[in-house]
Amino acid sequence: MKSCWNLRLSNYVVFVLALTVSSSMAQFSAPEDHLDKVSNNASNYLFPVEPGTPNLLAGTMGELRSNHFHSGIDVRTNGRIGVPILSAQQGYVSRISISTGGYGNALYITHPNGHTTVYGHLDRFEKRIADFVRKEQYRKKSFDINLYLKPGTFDVARGDTVAFSGNSGGSSGPHLHFDIRDKNNEALNPLLFNFGEVVDNTPPVVRKIALRTMDINSRINDQFGRFEFYVTEVDGNYKLPYPILASGTIGVELLGYDRLDNSRSQCGINLIEMYAGNDRIFKQEIDKVNFGDTRNILTLMDYTTLKTSGERFNKLYIDDGNILSYYGGSTGKGMITVKAEDIPIRIALKDAYGNESFVNLSLKASEPAKEVVAMTSANKLLSYKVIENILEVTSKRELGDSIVAYFGKNIEYAANTYSGKNQHVFLFDLRKKLPDSIRAGNQIINTHFKDMIPSGIIYKYYSDLMDINFSKNSLYDTVFLRVQYKNKDREVFSIGDSIYPINSSLTITLKPKGNYSERFSVYRNTGRYFQYMGGSWANGKITFSTREFGDFVLLEDTNAPSIIKMAVNGAAARFKIRDDLSGISYYEATINGEWLLMNYDYKTNMIWAERKDSKVPLKGDLSVKVVDYAGNENIYQEKIP
Ligand SMILES: [Zn+2]
Repeated sequence: MKSCWNLRLSNYVVFVLALTVSSSMAQFSAPEDHLDKVSNNASNYLFPVEPGTPNLLAGTMGELRSNHFHSGIDVRTNGRIGVPILSAQQGYVSRISISTGGYGNALYITHPNGHTTVYGHLDRFEKRIADFVRKEQYRKKSFDINLYLKPGTFDVARGDTVAFSGNSGGSSGPHLHFDIRDKNNEALNPLLFNFGEVVDNTPPVVRKIALRTMDINSRINDQFGRFEFYVTEVDGNYKLPYPILASGTIGVELLGYDRLDNSRSQCGINLIEMYAGNDRIFKQEIDKVNFGDTRNILTLMDYTTLKTSGERFNKLYIDDGNILSYYGGSTGKGMITVKAEDIPIRIALKDAYGNESFVNLSLKASEPAKEVVAMTSANKLLSYKVIENILEVTSKRELGDSIVAYFGKNIEYAANTYSGKNQHVFLFDLRKKLPDSIRAGNQIINTHFKDMIPSGIIYKYYSDLMDINFSKNSLYDTVFLRVQYKNKDREVFSIGDSIYPINSSLTITLKPKGNYSERFSVYRNTGRYFQYMGGSWANGKITFSTREFGDFVLLEDTNAPSIIKMAVNGAAARFKIRDDLSGISYYEATINGEWLLMNYDYKTNMIWAERKDSKVPLKGDLSVKVVDYAGNENIYQEKIP
C-alpha cells in the first residue's frame, strides 16, 4: 500500500487567509479554455472541503507515484481531523470501503450524470452511514469491508455532510483524497471542473534533464549511457546553459513537478510537449487515469533511476512496452536523431490552470571522439553494467586495450569502443548473444546471464536450483535474465535485476540444497529488510509469486506477534501490535465469546475496539488474538470489571 502523499508534516506551510469569503468568489475562476476538456461541465460540483474558501492541495491528478498515477486531488486539512466532507453533487452512495491500507475509510457517490466522486482517508462516516457500516462489519465479522449499494440506500443532496476527514489507510498526514470518475471508472482531472477554491498562478518547476543514448552507436558528450544535468532558471524559464555534444538517437527525460500557489507540495504536470526545432515530436497529456493500466507508469518513468535514487524522471519518449494513451498528437516516439545539424530542443510544461514553463537546450552535432577527456575515472579494475540492450564493460587501462568475452566454448576478442583517462569502455549488443564471462588482463567476471526473454510470451526457465515462470503479461520489455546462487551464511537466490519492472507476477519455484521445515517461507532481501513473500512447499521445493526481481532467501519466523495493552476499560480497548519478521496477517477480538469489532491502523500499529452500542460499556472476558503470516499466534486475555 503506497502512501497517498509523500510529504513530511514538517513541510506544512501555514496558509494565511488573504481573501475573505464574501469578496473572494468573483476571483475564483478557472481559465475558460480548460472547461471545454471536461466531458460534462454542467456537473457543477461543489468543492467537498470548506467550499467557498481557499484550499491547499498536497497532490494532483496524474502525479507520478512509485507504481501508479495519482487519480485525484489531495486536499489539505491543515493537520486537522474531523473536517466535514460534503457531497459534491446530488446522488447516491454507491460504494463504501474500509481497509487498513489504500484509501482507508472511503465513500463513493454516484451522480445523475454517471460520474462517481470518491472521498478517501476519512476518519469516519456520517452517523446513518456509520451505523449501517458497523452492522455490516458485525454481520461479516470483519473490519475490512467493501459494500456496493443501490440507489435508495443512502441518497444524498449536493452539500450534505457525508463524512469527516481523516488520515486512515495509506495516508501519511491528514487530508482528503478526492477524485471524479467517469462512467467507465476512469479518473478525470478534478481541477478542470472550475473549482475556485484552488488558486494556481504558479508554473511547473524543473530540476533536472537526463539525456540517454537510444542505441549502441549513439553518444552524449562522446559517451554511451544516461547522463543527468541540472537546469538553470532565468526569469521562470529553464535552460541547460551549455550545449550538449550529441550523435545518433537520443532520448530526453525530465525531473520536475507542478507547484500550486502557497504550497510547497510537488504535484503532477499534466501536459508536456517537446519540440525539436519547429517540430513537435512529443506530447504527453495525462487527462485520465485508467486503473487497469496505471502500473504502466513504470514504463513512463526511468525505472532504474526510480529504484536507485527514488527520483521520478518522466521519459519524453514513448519507450518499448509503454501502452499508455497519453501521447495523442506526438509525431514519432519522441526520440531525437542527431546527424550533421545542431538541434535546438524546447520543452513546454503546462499545468491544469494554463501556467507554463519552458526548458531550452541544444544538442550540438558532433562526431564521437575516441578519447574522452571529460570521462570520470573508473574505480574498479573491471566492471559491467546493462543499459537497455547494451552491456557496457569498463576496464582500467592497466589491464590492456582489449578484453575477451566467453560465449560457452567460443571466445571473442573485443577492442575498446572508446577510452577515458584511466579506462577503456567496451559495448556489446546483448540481443546478438549473451557473454558468460568477461576477462581483461588477469581479471575475470562472471555475468550470470541465462537468457534473453522478450515481453509478450510465456517463458519458463528451468535449472536444478530454481524454475521461473513468466506469463504473457509479466514483462513490459525485453529482459536479459541473470540468475545467481550463493550459499555463504544462507542460501541466496538472486533472480533478475531490479532495473526491470514486472507487470504481472512471476511464479518461482526454489529448490534449496539445505533441509528446511515447512515453517520456512520465502523473503525478498533488500539491504537489512526482509519482505515476506510466503510460498507453498511440495517435495522439498517452495513456490511463490513476485512482482519484483531481487535476492530471495528462506527464513523461519519463530516469534509470535506482540500485543501491548495501551488501555482496557469500559469505554475502550486499545493495543499496540507488532511482528518482528513476517508481519501481521490477522487479528480478532471477542468479548464474552462474541466477536468484537477492532479497528486497525497499520501506520501506528494500533488496534482498538469500538463499543457495539455506545451506551453499553465493555464488560466481561476480553480476548484478543493476533496471528502473523507464518502462523504464529499470540492471545491476550483480560476480564473487564
Ligand atoms: Zn490521494
